[in-house]
Amino acid sequence: MPRRFRIAIGGIRHEANTFSPIRTGYGDFHIFRGRELLDEAVLGVDGADQVDCAPLFGASALPSGPVTREAYLQLKDELLAGLRDALPVDGVYLDLHGAMEVEGVGDGESDLIASVRAVVGTGPLISVSLDLHGNISPELVDGSDVLTALRTAPHRDGDETRSRALANLLRALGRGVRPAAALVKVPLLLPGEAAMTDVEPARSLYARLLEIERTPAIIDASLLVGCAWTDGPFTSASVIVVAEEDAELARRQAVSLARDVWEKRAEFSFGQETATIDGAIRAAMGSPAAPVYISDSGDNVTAGAAGDLPVAIGRLLVLGAQGALVAGLRDPESVRMCAAAGEGSDVDLAVGGKLDRAHGGPLPLRARVTGLIQDPGGRIGMATVQVRGVTVVLTVDRRLFLDRASIAASGVNPGDQRIVVVKQGYLFPDLADHAPRAIMALTPGASDLRIENLPYEHIRRPIYPLDGEFQWEP
Ligand SMILES: [Zn+2]
Repeated sequence: MPRRFRIAIGGIRHEANTFSPIRTGYGDFHIFRGRELLDEAVLGVDGADQVDCAPLFGASALPSGPVTREAYLQLKDELLAGLRDALPVDGVYLDLHGAMEVEGVGDGESDLIASVRAVVGTGPLISVSLDLHGNISPELVDGSDVLTALRTAPHRDGDETRSRALANLLRALGRGVRPAAALVKVPLLLPGEAAMTDVEPARSLYARLLEIERTPAIIDASLLVGCAWTDGPFTSASVIVVAEEDAELARRQAVSLARDVWEKRAEFSFGQETATIDGAIRAAMGSPAAPVYISDSGDNVTAGAAGDLPVAIGRLLVLGAQGALVAGLRDPESVRMCAAAGEGSDVDLAVGGKLDRAHGGPLPLRARVTGLIQDPGGRIGMATVQVRGVTVVLTVDRRLFLDRASIAASGVNPGDQRIVVVKQGYLFPDLADHAPRAIMALTPGASDLRIENLPYEHIRRPIYPLDGEFQWEP
């Protein structure tokens, strides 16, 4: 009979954009338990039938500004209380992001891993799964035993990554080894849009992970692009390699991959058509392929920006675009005014520009209310308004429109439009797979892709490309 292992499972996931005006509170986290936590990615892993799971909880919030100290401490206290109740355990599996910044605490993952280790002691193994946009601290790697990260951007391998994190933990426990993890920080600052994993040089560099893993006695290899909008001391690309026991082997492999990444530093670029907002709109207006998806990349909700800058709407109107849809714009006041006026009414609105005041103010519009959409709870969650040839989806909260179905839930079919503006950078998989044409507009906001414009204070210097060329050896 193989031995049974008792494993506590939980995590707190957040990606912080420190240039964002928003703070992330306790109520912004979705807490998941039961089948949402112990899903197929966990229970379907080879050997999972030999595991006694001690489910804690998972917490996840939309990317936004830093987490408040109060919210983080409350989540941490709850997680640790569950962990104490679950003791004794053989292992802990934590699902984290890697770019959680906490006000007054700093790097959230560093603090969390130290706290978890303090509860379980040095005996149990800790496995961590990460987003490849995590900014990795030495404390996180030192405090963990096995780590793995996503390998696709846009992200398509969330389930596989969580399965691998648990499988890696079971492998180490089953063989009775104490894994050794090596971290090499590469002084390279990359917005995610410059490191899409199906575009070179990232494609070849990510393929190297599988090569490294074929080395006997290597458990896992990860390349993390990092999150360029977190102005913190650990913000950079990172390489992590985990060996079964041989720290020197892990280090050698990590150094080798880090050197490859550094050698390719000048080759990272946006993997798609980019333009100014006016250039993008003009190209879309003249495009035979439709709809053209335009990413309002500076106000990218999936990168933590406010999602309420009306820059694109203003330019669509000035340029006279027809058949254009903006999905969406966070503006609860305007949604309320639309609901009060009723469908078919004309209303005077000042849309957007309420959260992010640093990059522009509200845009005055006289618009016709064309739709009022209730959320499942019954409140009006979205309103659609039309101004000349432009339809705008206004939302009460920061909302993701990552696929055609979520856009169509506004009552407007994106497939019928000539232009669809979304507050994303690279398009997420469903849109990427179905957009006849996509243009990334380099717009202002907290997720500005022109990183040389951002007021960094805390990242470690020198860093490429901000500081130009310099010598670096891993
Ligand atoms: Zn990510």
